[in-house]
Amino acid sequence: MTDLRPFIAGLPKAELHVHHVGSASPRIVSELAARHPDSKVPTDPEALVDYFTFTDFAHFVEVYLSVVDLVRTPEDVRLLTYEIARDMARQNIRYAELTITPYSSVRRGIDEKAFMAAIEDARTAAETELGVILRWCFDIPGEAGLESAEETTRLAVDLRPEGLVSFGLGGPEIGVPRPQFKPYFDRAIAAGLHSVPHAGETTGPQTVWDALTHLRAERIGHGTSAAQDPALLAHLAEHRIALEVCPTSNIATRAVPDLDRHPIREMVAAGVLVTINSDDPPMFGTDLNTEYGVAARLLGLDERGVAALAKNAVEASFLDPAGKARITGEIDAYTEQWLAL
Ligand SMILES: [Zn+2]
Repeated sequence: MTDLRPFIAGLPKAELHVHHVGSASPRIVSELAARHPDSKVPTDPEALVDYFTFTDFAHFVEVYLSVVDLVRTPEDVRLLTYEIARDMARQNIRYAELTITPYSSVRRGIDEKAFMAAIEDARTAAETELGVILRWCFDIPGEAGLESAEETTRLAVDLRPEGLVSFGLGGPEIGVPRPQFKPYFDRAIAAGLHSVPHAGETTGPQTVWDALTHLRAERIGHGTSAAQDPALLAHLAEHRIALEVCPTSNIATRAVPDLDRHPIREMVAAGVLVTINSDDPPMFGTDLNTEYGVAARLLGLDERGVAALAKNAVEASFLDPAGKARITGEIDAYTEQWLAL
């Protein structure tokens, strides 16, 4: 089999499911840790690689929270956001919808208007300096309850930064039923935001149905368990409701026992619009290019098949039609040029 890695590395791509704090690479964490010497996070990038080697899920949560603790000022927010875009540019990611949990930062004492200004400043700089178009999804941290839902909705609707396109729901699914968030999604949708909750990652297909029915989901974060319900797969395919598939993340969190048992084949076979994403890439020891390699192996794809996956993400994105046409054109031109050589 041909090694698709060089092709994937240069392929223009879009990413739809990737978390803000969860994208802090060892390089970025070392820069943040250097700004806050009182934190217990190591500043040496080599020590950080060990720090980022997780022993279990509880350890992952501990490290994640220690990175959350490093983002204390608007300058930290700006640095984190811009440096994530730099890591994206290196992977030829042209467009990304970054999931941000503003509730966590605002509750920790960052002024809400300064927070919005920091992400917007990073966004415009990333586009002009790095060629990476960023958009935001503000998500409710489900584990923090309805108070966080109210606060996230207020921040999204009242302070709405220019780059905000969608509204999400993350955190655990077990014990956090989707329907209770309906009033908040109703308000966000009425304000013109798209609905993109996580669902069916750690619970069954009913959670995905709930996200569709009660939260009017236009895309589903993960949707892994949808593969257990043929009627649900048919519904997703018919309505072009994309799944944001994150293979390595699913293994790291034990949502799927191993990659060879990942249900991505069933999703594709049912005609569902599947997109490939990295979720919390450095924390799961991956990046988007690696995830495309995993998907290519699981689906037995060649270069054109990989390019088709990249175009799925553009189609399922909330970029304007002209922007979509431009990136799709870049994907086609790159692929044809590659295959002609
Ligand atoms: Zn996620």
